[in-house]
Amino acid sequence: MDVQQIFIHDTTWVFVAELIIRAALMFGMIIIFLRLTGKRGVRQLSIFELAIILSLGSIAGDPMFTENLPLVHALVVMAVVIAMYRLITWLMMKYQAFEDLVEGKSLYIVEDGELVLEKIKLGKMSHDEFFAEMRQQGVEHLGQVRVGLLESDGKFSMLFFQAEATRYGLPLFPKACQAIHRTEPHTYYACMYCGHVSLLEHANVVCPRCSKQQWTQAINTPYRA
Ligand SMILES: [Zn+2]
Repeated sequence: MDVQQIFIHDTTWVFVAELIIRAALMFGMIIIFLRLTGKRGVRQLSIFELAIILSLGSIAGDPMFTENLPLVHALVVMAVVIAMYRLITWLMMKYQAFEDLVEGKSLYIVEDGELVLEKIKLGKMSHDEFFAEMRQQGVEHLGQVRVGLLESDGKFSMLFFQAEATRYGLPLFPKACQAIHRTEPHTYYACMYCGHVSLLEHANVVCPRCSKQQWTQAINTPYRA
């Protein structure tokens, strides 16, 4: 193995200078093209936007360091990608079905303080993932949430019950959410799988909603933003 071969090969100072110019130009081009998409910034990317970023990234990458690759090639390809982006964005605004196809639909995860069962059964997401998301937005238990919607860009939108309308719900913080083995009278318990709340006779009752049998004590503290 020849270290000289790996690191330097036949690089000349002239080509190093060319690399510096190529990289600087392509970097400038990426910024100009991203501005042309009309996006303000990228916190959460939808699948479609991620595809654009990946395309631009690979288009910009090669001309940065490939000898004999004119930058005009990259320019043309980038222009095509941006034109596609604009066209698809326009089609998505015009046709809802097309948008659902490209971006994915938003999904109801929580309705009236309980998890929406079909979505969990489909395995589209893990409990932990959206429980973490809800905790970060200050939700203590599901009984505070009237509607929880998973947007197509992965963000979580929620509507809350008014303080006096807060229900008993499944606690989302680990310490408060421990499986019980005995039940107390006149106490509400929440199904740890679907969030269904019920007064239990004993700890082995099967959840009427999802047929699991793991319960934890429900809480009903109101939501404070
Ligand atoms: Zn259940």
